Amino acid sequence: MEVREGVGGFRAWFECFGGCSGRWPLTEIIYHCPQCEGLLTVQHDTERLRRTSPADWKKCFQKRGHTTSWPYGSGVWGRREMVCPIVDDDNIVSMYEGNTNLFWAKRLGRQLGVEDLWLKLCGNTHTGSFKDLGMTVLVSVVNQMRQTGQTVPAVACASTGDTSAALAAYAAYAGIPAIVLLPKDKVSSAQLVQPVANGAITLALETDFDGCMAIVKRIAEKDGIYLANSMNSLRVEGQKTVGMEIVEQFDWEVPEWIIIPGGNLGNVSALGKGLLDFYELGMIDRLPRIVCAQAQRANPLYLSYLTDFEKFDPIQAQPTLASAIQIGNPVSLAKAVETLKRFNGIVEQASEQELVDATARADRTGLFICPHTGVALAVLEKLLARGVISRQDRVVVISTAHGLKFTDFKIQYHKGVLDDIHSSRANPEIVLPARYERVRDEMFRQIDARFGSRNGSKTEGG
Ligand SMILES: *Cc1c(COP(=O)(O)O)cnc(C)c1O
Ligand SMILES: [Zn+2]
Repeated sequence: MEVREGVGGFRAWFECFGGCSGRWPLTEIIYHCPQCEGLLTVQHDTERLRRTSPADWKKCFQKRGHTTSWPYGSGVWGRREMVCPIVDDDNIVSMYEGNTNLFWAKRLGRQLGVEDLWLKLCGNTHTGSFKDLGMTVLVSVVNQMRQTGQTVPAVACASTGDTSAALAAYAAYAGIPAIVLLPKDKVSSAQLVQPVANGAITLALETDFDGCMAIVKRIAEKDGIYLANSMNSLRVEGQKTVGMEIVEQFDWEVPEWIIIPGGNLGNVSALGKGLLDFYELGMIDRLPRIVCAQAQRANPLYLSYLTDFEKFDPIQAQPTLASAIQIGNPVSLAKAVETLKRFNGIVEQASEQELVDATARADRTGLFICPHTGVALAVLEKLLARGVISRQDRVVVISTAHGLKFTDFKIQYHKGVLDDIHSSRANPEIVLPARYERVRDEMFRQIDARFGSRNGSKTEGG
């Protein structure tokens, strides 16, 4: 098949991430390099992209942002020439994902001792996690394939919860059959109900994520079902817009640090790719440092980092509250290592107690974060304490999912019933009879206990 020109003559194709020769159209069903078996990557026609000046691209993105003119209301499709130029307008499957808010976490930053702390709330999007960014691209390409006569009976993924939610929603929007493989009892109830409600064929298997992954790969190889996991580099192309959005939101200034939780390591690779694309096109003049934050119970990249990435051994990931990153054999390892080397990166880990403490502390300042974002914030605390991140630096923490997907864990925390976890900031509801005096007395007792005075002169600590 030939690599076809897309909108405005822009082109993109798959090629081997390791550098073997060969180009394949984005509509070809291929997940690995036929020569080295390694990952593929999407390469764009950079010469064509350079024919527009950085200033003109910036103006173009600004004009499109948040409009309703199809498909530019999406943070992903607003940059379609750099993401996926080959899908026709009519075949794009978008629910105006992305364009998520980046906000100054002022009170939390002050508590941690870093004034310029920002959170990029990637969970404030259609299905509640950054997975939408990649899935809109992948499902759009599948839709284009089906609309132009290629046979793709269904799309499938293995998931720790959020990938399946995104795949189910986008497939349902387009009317494409979806199959999701989940590790039984290892995803939150909110994550389980998403593909169920969207009509996906939802299979709960007695294994972990890595076990689901092994089976979905065989389904893709033997049964012709289209694979929607992040080894499919179309996902990375959509997800790379997170880095692009951050610098655009800072008016093209580049922060010193970006901290991101990592499991299968597609997202850290995507973050790096988006920023590098912008750097190479002259849209930004330097790169931030990237920190990948892992749960101590699922830390194969951290262990590899300790050997300067000389060695890597897959591990059996242990159960962690940060369930979306409970992965022992990350698919996008090679890409993540290259990203971390290029961005002078760091890998750090957080224990279960550290991640719940960081989550509860952040929630007390008005946030409502998922446990993976808790891992990232716990890692931030460690790097500040060690003086690696300086108190003057601008730091962005990528919040990967909406906290409402993880209420099970928050409820258990505030009840103080999480195994081996000390709930130092538990704030359970106080059950009272419906009597005015009892309510008044309890209310003043609580104000005195928590704030010390009733006039608000003392504010509660962390
Ligand atoms: C998928 C996911 C991650 C991990 O991203 P990877 O690309 O697998 O490293 C982190 N947090 C949440 C909430 C996720 O859904
Ligand atoms: Zn190769």
